[in-house]
Parts: sequence; C-alpha cells; structure tokens
Amino acid sequence: MLERDQAVGLRNGRGHRGDDLRRLNTAAVMKHVFHHPGTFRSEIAAQLGLSAASVTNITSVLINDNLLEALPSPVGGQGRPRVPLQVDHRSSAVLGIHLGPRTTGVVLMGLDGKERAAVLVPHAGMGPGESIDLVVAAAENLVDTYAGTCTILGTGIATGGIVDREAGIIVDNPSAGWQNVRVMDLLRGRLPSPVILDNNARAAAQSELLYGNGRRTDDFVLMVITADIGSVMVDSGRIRSGFSQTAGQIAHLRVSDEPRECPCGRTGCLAVMASDDAVTRTAIEHGLPARNIDEVLALASAGGAAAIEILEQRNRYVGRAASSLLDIHDPELLVVAGTPAETPAFFGSLIAEVGKYAHAGHGAAGRVVLSSDHVFSLSLFAGATLVDALLADPLGVLGFGEGEGSLS
Ligand SMILES: [Zn+2]
Repeated sequence: MLERDQAVGLRNGRGHRGDDLRRLNTAAVMKHVFHHPGTFRSEIAAQLGLSAASVTNITSVLINDNLLEALPSPVGGQGRPRVPLQVDHRSSAVLGIHLGPRTTGVVLMGLDGKERAAVLVPHAGMGPGESIDLVVAAAENLVDTYAGTCTILGTGIATGGIVDREAGIIVDNPSAGWQNVRVMDLLRGRLPSPVILDNNARAAAQSELLYGNGRRTDDFVLMVITADIGSVMVDSGRIRSGFSQTAGQIAHLRVSDEPRECPCGRTGCLAVMASDDAVTRTAIEHGLPARNIDEVLALASAGGAAAIEILEQRNRYVGRAASSLLDIHDPELLVVAGTPAETPAFFGSLIAEVGKYAHAGHGAAGRVVLSSDHVFSLSLFAGATLVDALLADPLGVLGFGEGEGSLS
C-alpha cells in the first residue's frame, strides 16, 4: 500500500529510507487498529498489503510501547488462535490543555478520547508568562500523580484566535488579549513532549475526525459556536488551515439587518448576534435573570418561553451562516459544535433557516448535523491533536525518529 517514494516526505525523517518506510508502515498499522478495534494481524496484513512477518514485528513494537494491546482470543476454532488487537486505552494517555482567556483546563485523556483526570487553572488578569507558569505547575502535578499508572505520550494545547501551529506561536487571541506569544519557547522541556499548539476550532475538528462524525465521512465543515466563533474545513481528512493560518473566520459574516454594532466596525455580524455573550446580552436586554450562557440554557430547559425564543433565534442566525458555508464548500456534512449542540430540541430552527437561505435548499439542510460530542470540552479537543500526531507517526511520537539508525 505504501510506496517508497512517499517516505521521502516524512517529517523529521532524517534516518535511512528503510527506516522511513518502517515509520510509515507502523503508522498505517496503528491507524488501522485505531479505526478497527478488535482486528486481527492477518486482517491488517491483507488490508494494508504488508507481509505477515512485518505486521507481527510492527505490532510487537506497538504492544511493547503500550500503544496497542492484545485481547483474549475467542474460544474455539481450529489452528492457531487469532488474537484481536486494539489501542491500549489504559496504559497510554496524552495531556490536553485548553488555554482559556481566564481559566485553563488541563486534562489527562486516554487514546479513546475520554477524560481520565482534569484540573482547572484560574489565571484572570495575569500575563501569558505568569499564566503559563501556573498551567505548567498544574500539568506537572497531574503527570506526577498518574505517571506510575500510564505512559504520557505528549501534550496537545489549543487556544482561541489565530495560532501559527508550525511556529508554536499564538499570533492573536483577542479574548485573552494575547499577541505574538511564543508558547513553544515558554514551554520548552516543561511538558511531556512532543507538544502541539493549535487553535480551538481546528482542535475541535480534529476531535470530530477521530471520535465523532469523522467516522462517517472525512469531508465536512465544522462550525464552532461558543464564546468564540469559527469554522474549519476538513477535506479528505485534512484540516485546511489556510495560507496565513486564518481560514474559517466566520465571526463577521453578516447574518442580521439589526443595527447591533460589532467591534469590527460593522453591524449584524454573527459574532454579535450568535456568540454565547451575544445570547446572554440579548437575555439581559429582555429582562431575564441570566448572567451567562449556562443560566440562559437553564431558563430554557425549565420551559422559559423568552429564553427558548432567544436560543431559537440564535440558531436561525447560525443557520444563515451555515447556508453560506454549504454553498461555498459543498461538504458532505456541516457539523455544528458548541452551545447549540447542548440544546438539540431547538436544532429544527437552524435546519429550517438553512432550507430557506442555502441555494442548495432543503438538500443542503439534510446535511447539517449537530456534533456527536455531547460534552463540549476544549481541553479534550486539544488532546485530540496529539492523538492525531501519534496516529500519523507513532515511532516519531515515541522518540524513535530523532536520529540516524534509531529504528534499526
Ligand atoms: Zn464584525
């Protein structure tokens, strides 16, 4: 399945070409088991076009390094028992960190995307250096507590705004007021490595790819509607970041003729009509006893008609923006993540608006779904970026790819 020429493009692939091929084949095996838990070595060999000996070698390494585990063989049958394999969710974990504007979430996540332990670090009013020191201390605590029970394979970090993933820099996170923060330099050697920095929306798309609707299709657009608003295009399983890492800025799509002013200087932008803060502000203007989005959601779930109408109207605004995305990108699915996913009862108003506004009409409306992640956890999404890196190059993440001949 893997051609030798593909090995040339492998990142950090400084070793012999044979080593590069081995890394690619190891990645293919790891990915296959991740997506087909309970599979057998013979199936892997047949699916990937590898020899039985290669698959045995690769799976032995992955089992030794706690990335895969062998399950008990089914009883009965003739000949040598076939051993089902799955990803080792107990022995391996990653750190996920959501660097928030006021509070940062640090989570220890299994490779199944589930939370093992978590801690919240408040840092309101502090600068980036001081905040990151507190986050590192909390992460070190978590690592010390759990290092004896599992291997921590690395750290995924996500934050809002514009992030240069390759350079490891927060270019502009407006809600935190952080500009040009060299996160990787501040963190070097202080967290389980490798460390990946990405933005919230791309991390959410990564999680959706690995654990959510990505199991149905690798061709979708994800909209994230929370305090922050963004979108991500996933094309053949690849997240498109854009030429200047800023793809998916939908916050200033005009969705209303209301004269509500946006910090960008215009009016009626999605950000000021449909973000969590916008919903809260509308609720307060209507005299509702709510100080934040959770309290608006609580009023709605208690049957409050005014709160319900405010959330339905928000979904209509999101539906108008979704229509534009569907018309521009024509994805197989448009996935809505964030607060609207917490109120599936009001999803109909979003769908109806798409039917009205999208040029593709009702056919497009049928392709709009809510995120399958019931818990919207930005720190788990951050962890998913590291799991993706692990599946792309398990030996690299394990540190085998760092020098000549290290895979021999
Ligand atoms: Zn605007």
